[in-house]
Amino acid sequence: MAEQGLQGKLSLERGVAERPAHRSQPIQSHDSLATLPGAILNLQQTAGNAAVSQLMIQRDDDHSVAAPSKSTTAADEHAKAIVTAAQAETPGIEERAVNAVTAILDTYYPDKKSMVNKVIWVEDLDGLNTKAQGRGPKVTGELQVGRKFITHTTGPNFARHVLQVAHELEHVQQHRDGMGGNKKAPEREFLAFYHEGTATEVPHTGHMGPVMRIKLLNQAIVNYNLLSDDDKKKYEDQHKDLLEKKASYEAKVKPEKTAGEGD
Ligand SMILES: [Zn+2]
Repeated sequence: MAEQGLQGKLSLERGVAERPAHRSQPIQSHDSLATLPGAILNLQQTAGNAAVSQLMIQRDDDHSVAAPSKSTTAADEHAKAIVTAAQAETPGIEERAVNAVTAILDTYYPDKKSMVNKVIWVEDLDGLNTKAQGRGPKVTGELQVGRKFITHTTGPNFARHVLQVAHELEHVQQHRDGMGGNKKAPEREFLAFYHEGTATEVPHTGHMGPVMRIKLLNQAIVNYNLLSDDDKKKYEDQHKDLLEKKASYEAKVKPEKTAGEGD
């Protein structure tokens, strides 16, 4: 089964697994044992043993020590190690792309990792995409990653990239909940972009700026406008909340600040 390939042999990720969930996505805890740091193994290939030892040491400390850094937002060593590996010269870009997504899954969403049956490279993809495999409550996702995702896996974009992976996991859950099929694509994207655009950053991954949030919420609006009248009514409250939050992000954006946002 697909899940086997995604389970690692160590159990170093628990510190992260126990951190509070960052969003209210209605995903149950799966049977995953959260014993899966493929991320560690991948980093071993890409960033060398020093980085891995570093990670292991940090994990051990996670139980007792509140992160020594300034805030819950600032990128920590785990985030930096993934970015460093993503931007390294070796291995090839395809492998680095798959490794980066796998490392994000292992590090930030260990309890949802069993929802993904594999991560594959699809060069021309604009970011990430999920292809549902199977039917009903056992659907898993083939997570596809393209060139743009990996070339943009840099410090300023990292918090968003972590939330972008959550967006794809939400799609898997949507398929499990009976929201599959082309007809429901706008509903899936409305919800996933709304949640991504308004989500609190996963702790210690960095910051997602208001310009990016506005872009994501605009995508949610495009999809909302494609809904049937009944569905528009069904999501009236979320739509209202979205517009209010978008207005508050817009109020934060000063014209001279938009330059460094990136995507
Ligand atoms: Zn989507």
